[in-house]
Order: sequence, then structure tokens, then C-alpha cells
Amino acid sequence: MTDTSNSLTFADLPLSEAVIKAVQDVGYESPSPIQAQSIPYLLERRDLLGLAQTGTGKTAAFALPLLSNIDLKQRDPQVLVLTPTRELAIQVAEAFQRYARHMKGFHVLPVYGGQDMRGQLRSLQRGAHVIVGTPGRVMDHLRRESLRLENLKTVVLDEADEMLRMGFVDDIEWIMEQTPEDRQVALFSATMPYQIRKIADTHLKEPATVEIRAKTATVDTISQKVCMVSGFNKIDALTRILEVEPFDAMIIFVRTKTATVELAEKLEARGFAAAALNGDMSQALREKVVERLKKKSLDILIATDVAARGLDVERISHVVNYDIPYDTEAYVHRIGRTGRAGREGTAILFATHRERRMLRAIESATRQRIDTMRLPSMSDVRDIRISQFKEDVLKVMSMGDELEVFREIVAELEQENTLSYEDMAAALCFMAQKERPFPDAKEPEPTRRESREGRERGERRDGERRGGRERSNEGMVRYRVELGRDHGINPGDLVGAIANEGKISGQSIGHIRLFDSCSSVYLPEGIASSVLDVLKDAKIRNRPMALKPWVDDGVPMERRGRREAGRRDSSRGVRREGGRVRPRRGNDGNR
Ligand code: AMP
Repeated sequence: MTDTSNSLTFADLPLSEAVIKAVQDVGYESPSPIQAQSIPYLLERRDLLGLAQTGTGKTAAFALPLLSNIDLKQRDPQVLVLTPTRELAIQVAEAFQRYARHMKGFHVLPVYGGQDMRGQLRSLQRGAHVIVGTPGRVMDHLRRESLRLENLKTVVLDEADEMLRMGFVDDIEWIMEQTPEDRQVALFSATMPYQIRKIADTHLKEPATVEIRAKTATVDTISQKVCMVSGFNKIDALTRILEVEPFDAMIIFVRTKTATVELAEKLEARGFAAAALNGDMSQALREKVVERLKKKSLDILIATDVAARGLDVERISHVVNYDIPYDTEAYVHRIGRTGRAGREGTAILFATHRERRMLRAIESATRQRIDTMRLPSMSDVRDIRISQFKEDVLKVMSMGDELEVFREIVAELEQENTLSYEDMAAALCFMAQKERPFPDAKEPEPTRRESREGRERGERRDGERRGGRERSNEGMVRYRVELGRDHGINPGDLVGAIANEGKISGQSIGHIRLFDSCSSVYLPEGIASSVLDVLKDAKIRNRPMALKPWVDDGVPMERRGRREAGRRDSSRGVRREGGRVRPRRGNDGNR
């Protein structure tokens, strides 16, 4: 297996210029192992059997070479990608579009069940270079002859074992028979059950095999945790962890060079001493950044795998996998940046439900169970901030003589205005904290940023701007309602039913999202079970809402659209003051 620590770049691969430029725009630093291995074969038009799961970068592994081989003048479909679900079809089609941004006139068309047939027929008539679809709908079009594959060059079977699980094997066989004899086939599957092996034996000619295998490693001194972030804004999740988790220095891994810079800027804006470390920086600059981390003028580095290779700084107590790595080996490299020199380390992994398989693969590769960590609530953040504030006050009180002049001022204030010491102290606390008020654990601040970022990602959120206000989900619990657009409901119906039946004020009802067959709604934490029972049976348009806690299967929304500091562990190097970073005073206190 190609190691992620090699220094191959996309430009070293014989991809088309337009594709290399798009990859550079997206900010990928280097090919993931599956990409490094698959791309050369697919460019040579060889058949390929890829054993790899989601999260390894397999979509780009086939999309980049196949795009490089596309003839833009030819409007008949040249590539057909079969996927198990419509969500994956959309995601793959979006990836093709992204990587083809410099290919003028390029068209990719996703086709899947449930989508308006007439619209699909029109789009097919207009022509598309790449079709990405679910087997059932692709079969429909082939039968209607609205999809013709005479000029097809390549078929990709994506997540073949999932297609098998969903009962699509016969459909795949049938579709394969409709494709030209000389087409190239790429089959990707996380596992290789008998039926998939059979498809491979029948339809692939002398395939090259690429396998992204799990390796084992010992990471005994590192405690591993996973934070399921489906439905959360990752930056908000990270900020809460930074507030609550005592750490000395931290390295945060992201997938792209662009993301290192963006995340570093966001964390700096939130008052953390953070900097980016990526392959675009000169060796000298990288060394300087690492030196600053060692000398404690920085606490957080945001890095890509390549840039952090071999990084050895004893004070790194935490590694955060902000973006899940491509493979287990990269994971082991990443978390090995902590737990240095026999110290204990903590590794926190952000994962979505879609990435569960990679999570299981990591557990088996590291031979350790990765415990799920609860994302700190706003009330945890508030408690920590208040206790740190108290510590700060006590520290200042131990200063002695320096306070003398202030004691005199307080005595004058008290005499001139007959004030109580309690009131004066409260007023001074207010002054000290007013730039950075304690979060209100009960009534979360609506964050405009969260909604904006969601929209930038193209997420569709019905009804989130109720009453002209955007809301955050802090201190809220997500529930599922078994009624959706198909039942003709709108967000107002949900608010009305929940407010009336559950006696919950409309103001405290959070984000609502409508999907086709169900909806989700955020309600405040700690709702009495008797109220939840009432809401379970409550009806809208004569149908029960069947409200229950949301079990996130990651499907409906995440795929649809594609998809503060001063806290003070005195061991950290900075302290937040009105959104700025100022150097910590004294106390090195390594934990
Ligand atoms: P996939 O396994 O295709 O679902 O890809 C998982 C994620 O990895 C997607 O969000 C891709 O955008 C991202 N990705 C794919 N290739 C690379 C790469 N070479 N460098 C960084 N990120 C990548």
C-alpha cells in the first residue's frame, strides 16, 4: 500500500491540466493512497478492482482520471457510475462537477428514483458526458431508450457491496450486459462477498487490484475518543471542546491546505493562539511555526497530514481529527503526534454517521475501542468559564501591595455612595467580563454564522428562519417527526402542534427541517417525559406526529444538499481578553 507519507503530488500524475487545476483549487495537498494507486491504472483505461471504503477519497480516485479521459465534443454518455443510493448519486455527481470546473461545456447528470421523470428525460435528451445513477432508475431509462450507452467508455460500480445488500445484483448484471464489450470497468467495494467477486470475475478483464488495508499499531498511552458531529457545525463543536477540555498544546488535522488557513483564522478570531501548518509554506516558515509551538507562543496547530509528518513536540497533549483521515494508517500517524516521550495523550476524532465504517476500521486497526464523547453543552462551557473567572479573581487577590491603591478607591466609593461591598464587587465583575459575557446555558444565542455556513455548504433547511430569527441548536435536542413534505405539512404546522399540545413556547422551538417523509425539530433539553408522550400522540392533519429522539442515520439532510478562550487552564499560553489574545502571565504548569 502506498503510504500517505510519500511526497507524490497530483501534478506528478498524468491527469489532464484542467483536472489538476481543479484539484489545486479545491486545495487537496497530495493524492490519498487509493488515489495514488488507482489513478494511473484508470488513466490507462485498465479495469480496476478497488477495495476501499468511504472516506478514503475513492470518489476522486475514479472521477479525476475518468474526467481526464473525457472527450468534451462527444455528447453521448461516456461514463456511467452506479451507486446504491440517490444521496450518493448526488454526492458523486457533485464531485464530478467540482473536479470538472475548468472543463467548459462538461455535463454530469444524476438520475435516481423519486426524481421527476420528465425533467430527467429532458436533461438526458440535452446530453451528458457522465451519468451517475441508482440501478433501478438507470434500468428504466435503458428500457425506454432515453439512455443509450453505445459510446460508453467506462462503468463504475461504486459501493458494490452496498448495492448487493440493497438487492441490486441482478439489476447490475442486466445493466452491465447493455454496455459495450470494450468498456472499462472499475468496481469499488469495502468488502468482497462472493456475489461481488462473481461480478468482478465475469465483467472485469485482468483487473488491477488496489487495496487500502488496515494496519495495526500500538497506541497504548493515547486515549481515543470520537465525537459524532452529524448535524453539528464542526467549528462550534471544536470551540466547545477547546473551552472545556484541559490541554497543553493541540494539533488539529484537516484535509486541505485551504482548510488549515481557514480554521486557523477562525480560531484566532475566537481568541486562541492558533496557526496553520501546510505544504504550501516554506520549510523555514514551517520550522518557525513548530518552534513557536515548542516555546508556547502558540498552542494550536492546524495541519495537513503531509505537513505534520514527523512532528515531535512533547507538549502536544491532544490531537483532533477534525476531518476523518483517509485510512487507518494516516490515523495512526496523526495520533502518534501526541503521547510523546512516554506522556499521556488524547486523540479526539470528529465523525459523521456516514463515516462509521472508517471509525470501525480504525478501532480494529488500533485494536482499541474508541469511546464516544459527549459534546460539551453550553452549560458545561458556562461552568468552566465561571470557575476560571473565580480562579483569576483569587490569583489577583494574592498580589498584595499592588492592590493597595484600588483598596483606597473602593473605600472612597463605599463612603461617598453608601454602597455594599457585594454590589461593588458584582459591578467590578461585570466590568471585567463584559467583553466576553458568560454564555447563557438556558437560552442559547442564535448564531448567524452557523446558518450562513450551512447555506454555503448548500444545505437545505426548511423553516429555520422562523420569525425572521435564525437559531442555533445549542442546549437543544433533536427530535424526529414522522410527517414530512409528502404529508403536505409546513414548519408552521409543526410549531403550532408542538406549542399547543406540548405547551412549549414557540420561541423555544429550534430549527425545523422538512424532508419528504419525515421532519426534524430541535427542542430544549430536559423536556418532561409526560410532555414527550403527549407530543408523540399529537396529530397534524389527522396523522400522529410520532415524535421521538432523532437517531441520526446521516441520510436525509446531510446528504441531500451534498454535502472562546481565556479558559484557563493556566498551563496554556494565552488568555482571552475581549476577543484578543494576550500572553499568559507566569505559571507554566504543565499537566
Ligand atoms: P470519499 O472517500 O470519496 O467519500 O471522499 C471523502 C472526502 O475526502 C471528500 O470530502 C473529499 O473531498 C476528500 N478528499 C478526497 N481526496 C482528497 C485529497 N487528495 N486530499 C484531501 N481531501 C480529499
